[in-house]
Amino acid sequence: RSKNAGRNCFHVYSPELKAEADQRNVLEIELREAIWREEIELFYQPVIELGTGRVKSVEALARWHHGTRGYVPPAEFIAVAEAGGLIVELGHQVLARACRDAMNMPGDIKVAVNLSALQFASANLVDTVTFALTQSGLPQTRLELEITESVFLADTKENLRTLQRLKALGVSIALDDFGVGYSSLSYLTAFPFDKVKIDKSFIDRIDRCETVAVLKSIVQLAKTLKLSIVAEGVESSEQVRRLQSLGIPLGQGFHFSKPVPLTELSWQAPTARRKRRVA
Ligand code: C2E
Ligand code: MG
Ligand code: MG
Ligand code: MG
Repeated sequence: RSKNAGRNCFHVYSPELKAEADQRNVLEIELREAIWREEIELFYQPVIELGTGRVKSVEALARWHHGTRGYVPPAEFIAVAEAGGLIVELGHQVLARACRDAMNMPGDIKVAVNLSALQFASANLVDTVTFALTQSGLPQTRLELEITESVFLADTKENLRTLQRLKALGVSIALDDFGVGYSSLSYLTAFPFDKVKIDKSFIDRIDRCETVAVLKSIVQLAKTLKLSIVAEGVESSEQVRRLQSLGIPLGQGFHFSKPVPLTELSWQAPTARRKRRVA
């Protein structure tokens, strides 16, 4: 039914669509309040150096603990925030909090913050980043900004300028979810990224020879462009082994740790952690 409805797009009105829209409005009002009360939390997921098991950086991931709905996933509320024009304020809070939290982490740990496409395009992004750094006292070299290809669907010249202004601040830039978009390879060469995060879908299929071939060429390109590479969504030690044999040095995923609150982050190598669990 939904397939046909999608294809023909005849309906101008349907009760289901209206209910969906109402729910979205409620969510938007509640989100506005939650942002106002600074109730959006940040969880952190470590990025691990595969060779040593050491934590090199953490990624900040927004969590909205909703009163009755429980945790609303960012996939849901980031879209609502963008549609309702709340993303700029939310992004401001996330950046400020992540920088402050990073000041309570070991000094060699970087913190990565996700930017949505609208946030990236907003006029005050560079000011927001500068403000978050100066307010927290975090050295700019410890902040990393993650953007996806969706950012580049809009005006490319303006995007390049924004990237260059951010890089001039001294922060680093990662291309997130690499490989799921349309013309990733061209973006990699056209923009001054520092890091590429290979999407989980490739790691899921790392046992296939087609995937291995693609990953090999990404590793090669990253070497040429002097980019650091991270594998996202690593869930097994078998995947770790394959990543290492491909020369991919960094990994992030449930195999190492789920995203956790700041206070639950552990800076020890996973072997030490595993031993502790057994004991
Ligand atoms: P992302 O930046 O690609 O973040 C990685 C997502 O993969 C996170 O989902 C993380 O929990 C999940 N993940 C990590 N390792 C594994 C694994 O081994 N297996 C599985 N199944 N999943 C894994 P999360 O936290 O739900 O975030 C989803 C997306 O929402 C993020 O994708 C990011 O695009 C966006 N997002 C999260 N926080 C923010 C934020 O503060 N601002 C903006 N603009 N976007 C955010
Ligand atoms: Mg990310
Ligand atoms: Mg990602
Ligand atoms: Mg992703």
